[in-house]
Amino acid sequence: MALSFSSSCRAGGSIPSPELKASLFGSVCQSLGWICPKGVGNSYQRQCIMKPVCMKPKKNYSSVTFAAIAVGPEVDATENEDFEKLIKEMENSSPLEIVDEALEKFGHDIAIAFSGAEDVALIEYAKLTGRPFRVFSLDTGRLNPETYEFFSAVEKHYGIHIEYTFPDAVEVQGLVRNKGLFSFYEDGHQECCRVRKVRPLRKALKGLRAWITGQRKDQSPGTRADIPIVQVDPSFEGMGGGIGSLVKWNPMANLEGHEVWSFLQAMNVPVNSLHAQGYVSIGCEPCTRPVLPGQHEREGRWWWEDAKAKECGLHKGNIKQIEVPELSDIGNESKVVQRNGNSAQTDLFNSQNLVALSRTGIENLARLDNRRESWLVVLYAPWCRFCQAMEESYIELAEKLAGTGVKVGKFRADGDQKAFAQQELQLGSFPTILFFPKHSSKPIKYPSEKRDVGSLMTFLQALR
Ligand code: SF4
Repeated sequence: MALSFSSSCRAGGSIPSPELKASLFGSVCQSLGWICPKGVGNSYQRQCIMKPVCMKPKKNYSSVTFAAIAVGPEVDATENEDFEKLIKEMENSSPLEIVDEALEKFGHDIAIAFSGAEDVALIEYAKLTGRPFRVFSLDTGRLNPETYEFFSAVEKHYGIHIEYTFPDAVEVQGLVRNKGLFSFYEDGHQECCRVRKVRPLRKALKGLRAWITGQRKDQSPGTRADIPIVQVDPSFEGMGGGIGSLVKWNPMANLEGHEVWSFLQAMNVPVNSLHAQGYVSIGCEPCTRPVLPGQHEREGRWWWEDAKAKECGLHKGNIKQIEVPELSDIGNESKVVQRNGNSAQTDLFNSQNLVALSRTGIENLARLDNRRESWLVVLYAPWCRFCQAMEESYIELAEKLAGTGVKVGKFRADGDQKAFAQQELQLGSFPTILFFPKHSSKPIKYPSEKRDVGSLMTFLQALR
C-alpha cells in the first residue's frame, strides 16, 4: 500500500500557474476573511517551485501497511493537550492554519479522510502548507463509477497515492448472502455501513494518532451543528488504544458549503462530476441521490430514513446526544427528563389550536379509513432539542390551519410509548411529523428536516 507526500505538483492543462494559484488563494483568503498561516503566504509557490522549507525528508512507506506505521521521533506528544484552549486559540483560524497545525503536531501519524466529495479541499490545504501529508479513503465497493474516476483524477492532480481501505470480504459475503444486496432499504443502513465503512475505518484509524475530516456544521443541522475544529475523537481509537487515543480535526467545521465551493473553484482542483448532476453530499451509489434546489444536502443521503439516522457511523459521536438522552446531555435543569421518559419537564406545543392525543386517540386516528378531517400530528419528546426548536413554528402553523379542515395534533412518543410509535407510527427520531389524509388510513411521513411554517405548508398543500 502506497503512501505519498505532496512533494510535487503537476503543471499544464487548465491548472493555473503556481503564481496565479497563490494569488487566487490570497483572494479567496481575503474574501472569506481568513488569515494565511505564518510563512504559508506563498506556500503554493514554494511547494511547486522549490523544495518547501518545512518539508520533512521524504520517506518511502510504500511497503508499510497503513496500520503499521510507527510513531516517528519528530512527532510531538499530545497526551496533555488542552483542546479547549486550543479551540479558543484557533477560534478565528482559517482551515489552512488548522490543517497546518494538525500536520505539524502529528507528522505522519495523521491522515486526511477523503470521501471523494468536497474533501479535496482538505488535500489542497495540506498541499498549501508545504508539509508532507497522507490521505486515506474507504472503498465500500458500492461507490459510483464517477467517484472512482474522481479518486484517480485527484491522485494524478496531486501526484499522490490514496491509501484505500476495504471491507472484510467474509463479512460482506455474510451480509449479502443472508440479506441480499439492498438490505439497507428494508432494515436501515446501519448494518451495511457497519460492515462496509465503520469497521474498515476503525481498523484504519488504529494505525493513526489523529485524522482530518471534512465535516461542517452546516451539513446537517440535526447531527453536525456542534462539531468543534478539533476534539478527542469520541468514538474511535487511535494507535495508543482506548477511547481518548485519537484526535479528530475538523478544519472546515465553520465553513459554509458555498465557501468551500468558492475555494475549490478558485484553486481549479478536480471535483466529482456527479456534482454537476445535482449531487451535493456524495456517498455510496445506492444510498445517494441528487437534491432539488432548496433541499438540504443531507436529504440526498439515505432519503428513506429519518434525519437523525443520517450519519453512516463514521462520525457517530455526532448523534450520541439525541439517541439516548442523558441528564448531562440536556444541560438544562428545567428541561430534565429521566431515561424512562417520565419527565418533570415542561411540555411542548401548548396551544388551544393543537390537540394533545392520547395513545387511544392516535390509535383510533390511525385505524380510520375515512376521517372527517385530515390531521397533521407531531410525534415528539419534550427533552428533544429539535422538537424544542420547532415549537414556535408548529404552534404558528396550528394557528394558520385553524378552521381550514386540517386538524393539528401532538403525541408524546418517548418513554413507554416509544416502542409502539416505532412499530406503528414510523417513528425513527424526534420529531416525526405525520400527515393523516382524509380518505386513507395510511399516514404520510414528512420527509424533510426543514420544519418552518412555509415548508410544512408546502407539504400539506401538495397532499391535500
Ligand atoms: Fe451500505 Fe449504503 Fe452504507 Fe454504502 S452508504 S455502506 S451501500 S448502507
